Amino acid sequence: MRFALINDKPTEAMPGLVDAVCPGCGASVIAKCGTQKIHHWAHKNMRMCDSWWETETEWHRAWKNKFPFEWQEIFLPDEQTGEKHIADIQTKYGLVIEFQHSFINPAERISREEFYKNMVWVVDGTRLSRDFPRFVKGGKFGSIELKPGIIKVDFADDYFPRNWLKGSVPVVFDFLGIDDPANADYTRKTLYCLFPSHDDFEAVFAKISRRVFIRTVLNGEWSERVTAFMDEMEQEYIEKQKQRQRNLQQPIYYRRNRFVYPAKIYRKKWRR
Ligand SMILES: [Zn+2]
Repeated sequence: MRFALINDKPTEAMPGLVDAVCPGCGASVIAKCGTQKIHHWAHKNMRMCDSWWETETEWHRAWKNKFPFEWQEIFLPDEQTGEKHIADIQTKYGLVIEFQHSFINPAERISREEFYKNMVWVVDGTRLSRDFPRFVKGGKFGSIELKPGIIKVDFADDYFPRNWLKGSVPVVFDFLGIDDPANADYTRKTLYCLFPSHDDFEAVFAKISRRVFIRTVLNGEWSERVTAFMDEMEQEYIEKQKQRQRNLQQPIYYRRNRFVYPAKIYRKKWRR
């Protein structure tokens, strides 16, 4: 954890600080200020009280720093399990951002999406060396630009890691990691927001600059924009389904000799 309470005040871990407690469970925590891991607070006599918590990296902290302190590490009670879960960021508009560096199994991922609901994942696309090359290579298979910056591809797994497909909330891929955007090319420094999809194969994603992502989260526009876009996609999907249904109901015509018969009559007449 980045913050613990000392005299009720959120405080960052520093050598020599004592009498700190976890803001979630109230247990004693101690400052860990070694050289291997980023400075943090750890529970003294037990494991971290949130079972979903992952060890933080420099990448987590760099992202959290883009947002106000009051939005960081927000403890949210889970009524079903009695646990509390720590949202990396919860904005004052209610959006949760989870920064995910390590592998997460799909079952846990789904429970987290169901718990937070109004959320977006930001995934460290630099942890596995194959993720960025896969994404770049994917771009060579052809794609359709639905509107500026919005791309539809036939096979999502040509672009993105499989364990991040088929979610119920948007997933933003960060292929830059902790490198300086000033030294990176456009493809690497852009963020890619993968939207949830009904389709088993196809995917739609948006190219977003870091600046726009951070700005729209800060001013609350992110959820509105994403919801509007996802509603639009949902509407299109429903229309497509209806069209498919109508096509199935349309009578099929068969030709025999000089006559064209509707399928039903054709079968009666010729296929008894
Ligand atoms: Zn705790």
